Amino acid sequence: MNHDEINTLLKPKTIAVVGASATPGKIGYTVVENLKKSGYKGAVYPINPSASDILGFKCYASITDVPGSVDAAVMCVPVKLVNTCAEDCGKKGVKGLIVITSGFSEVGRKDLEEELVATARKYKMRILGPNIVGTLSNSDKMNASFAPFLPLDGKATLITQSGALLIAMDAATYTRRVGFDKMVSIGNMCDVDIADIIEWLNGDESTTCTSLYIEGLKDGRKFIKAGRASKKPIIALKSGVSAHGAAAAASHTGSLAGAAKVYGSAFKQAGVIQASDLDNLFDRTLALSLMPPLKGENLLVITNGGGVGVLATDAAERYGIPMKFAPKDVQEELKKHMPEFGSAKNPVDLTGMAGTEWYAESVRFAISHPWVDGLIVLYCETAMTNPLEIAKGIKQALNEAGIKDKPVTVSYVGGEKSAAAMSWLVENGIPAYAAPDLAVNAMAALREYALLRETAKEPDYKSNDAARKAAMQIISAARADGRDALTEIEAKQVFNAYGLPVTSTELAKTEDEAVALAKKIGFPVVMKIVSPEILHKSDAGGVKVNIKDEAAAREAFNTIIKNAKAYKADANIHGVAVQEMAPWGTETILGSTNDATFGPTIMFGLGGIFVEVLKDVTFRVAPIDKVQAAEMFEEIRAAAILKGARGEAPRDRKALSDTVEKYSSMIIDLEDEISESDANPVLVYEEGKGLKVVDARIILKKK
Ligand code: ADP
Ligand code: MG
Repeated sequence: MNHDEINTLLKPKTIAVVGASATPGKIGYTVVENLKKSGYKGAVYPINPSASDILGFKCYASITDVPGSVDAAVMCVPVKLVNTCAEDCGKKGVKGLIVITSGFSEVGRKDLEEELVATARKYKMRILGPNIVGTLSNSDKMNASFAPFLPLDGKATLITQSGALLIAMDAATYTRRVGFDKMVSIGNMCDVDIADIIEWLNGDESTTCTSLYIEGLKDGRKFIKAGRASKKPIIALKSGVSAHGAAAAASHTGSLAGAAKVYGSAFKQAGVIQASDLDNLFDRTLALSLMPPLKGENLLVITNGGGVGVLATDAAERYGIPMKFAPKDVQEELKKHMPEFGSAKNPVDLTGMAGTEWYAESVRFAISHPWVDGLIVLYCETAMTNPLEIAKGIKQALNEAGIKDKPVTVSYVGGEKSAAAMSWLVENGIPAYAAPDLAVNAMAALREYALLRETAKEPDYKSNDAARKAAMQIISAARADGRDALTEIEAKQVFNAYGLPVTSTELAKTEDEAVALAKKIGFPVVMKIVSPEILHKSDAGGVKVNIKDEAAAREAFNTIIKNAKAYKADANIHGVAVQEMAPWGTETILGSTNDATFGPTIMFGLGGIFVEVLKDVTFRVAPIDKVQAAEMFEEIRAAAILKGARGEAPRDRKALSDTVEKYSSMIIDLEDEISESDANPVLVYEEGKGLKVVDARIILKKK
């Protein structure tokens, strides 16, 4: 269903150009000209009431006059005419609208977009755009856009939210020698979005890798789902990564959830590889479109220069694919193809004396050896050797070896001869780069792809109905009380319903009640102010820890009440919470927000008073399971502390991942209720000793 619909937009058999023009320079002229120049085989129908013929195509006054059926209509009419023309297209039975026209939501006219979508729904048409350059396809010889020519032919497909970037990248494919089969300008995504195209590309034989330029997604969860289901690697460059909306946030999590971090995590969850910049997007796309994933950790580097070999070794560590020494048998065989002063360890230095034969023999042997998972071949231009000949030798050796499931990347450092050799390599299906660092980075992308295919899975998530019911009672009571912030006691009750280990906490309204509760819980205790208006209790002098006896409890009660009144005279004070004093542990933080793009999002990091300063936190779009939770622990800078730094015992990460999973269930089950929440701190103990949530906060959605 979806597949056929997208087909009419990206592989239409007939195209009408609504708003075609006979005047060179106009978009409506350029599109017709581009369809002609690109060699498009389908029928082209220019629509224009005042022309009879445009560039040799018979022109029609209205789309309803066209004799045959029409798959797609490329719309170039002024914005005020788009909807009327869409109506005509609908009546004609057009299946897809490629709306180049701008002036919609990008300039605040979302209403015009909604009107257009309504028309499309009425006639069962799909829309690409509006506000796009169009769509281009080498395999269909179709340039249905106002970009001047088809890109250099290749196996990647680009989907971009920036039309200007499409035109620029289109031209750059020729100078960078990175080929694309298709380029799709996605624009405002009023109907068809990036996820729809990703899904469609699974069935597109001409595409081996999807390359994305993203400014902002509309439906983050749909994107994650499409990414996980993709049978092909996806690489994304995300722009606009500066934090936003932090100031207005009421909780720790809100101020820490910068857009960049949430997107980065969502990409991981979707199995999407990231590009750091435009160069990197090109470079990684090249490797991902030509090579299989790097399935193991054993990378072999063959070089004729020690310098580039060391640079590659450094880069390998930097990009997360550190190199190891090759095993003895590999070294011994490789020694046969180098002089005495070469090195077979890895990087394998064939020395500057290495000619085509040594390269070819080493490559043929290395790629076939079971220890080698991937191969990087480096070449420094020398006066004695011929770069192109060596390139041909590498290619021939790879052909002879016939190994298809191990990736190879190449780097040449040199001048024009090297550049020509690299072009030859790329044309022959081997990604080649002008610096060793780039060849390693490309290999790292292939490794990331292999790993992401393992980890980017649907979580093992179950909702907890009993817990949800208990939580709803507490939430409803607070709402009935006219509040949208739960007290710590209430929040802990909700956490407890979901099985989070919270400190036992009870409310004391008087000094005597406080003493009685302290005795019941057992000294030492902690006492805290309970007021819906005081969210950061320590700031108000509202927390007293290590209260050892009755006298101290009485004093603490009175001091806390006095401090709270001084802090906020009109605060509604429920009383003082008396709670068990948890032993010291590593302070971590768990939090949740409702991300505008991705919905309920979970945060984990090192907690305590410096959490906002250090920002050592990481995110996941909920829900996640235990295994995915444990991945978060590796991502924070303080990962080593959890593993047991400076002679300390490792922390109970098993208990922690279990708790994160439960927290994730809670925020999904209560998605309609909770706006933000956090557990700060969660004190994590030694392995086997669990953890304790000593503070809890829940902010409800306004209803
Ligand atoms: P707030 O964050 O609102 O200022 P908390 O409840 O987090 O207040 O208390 C402040 C600090 O007191 C915590 O970071 C923790 O170090 C300590 N603390 C709070 N409750 C307990 C407890 N039950 N056991 C041990 N330490 C506690
Ligand atoms: Mg706290």
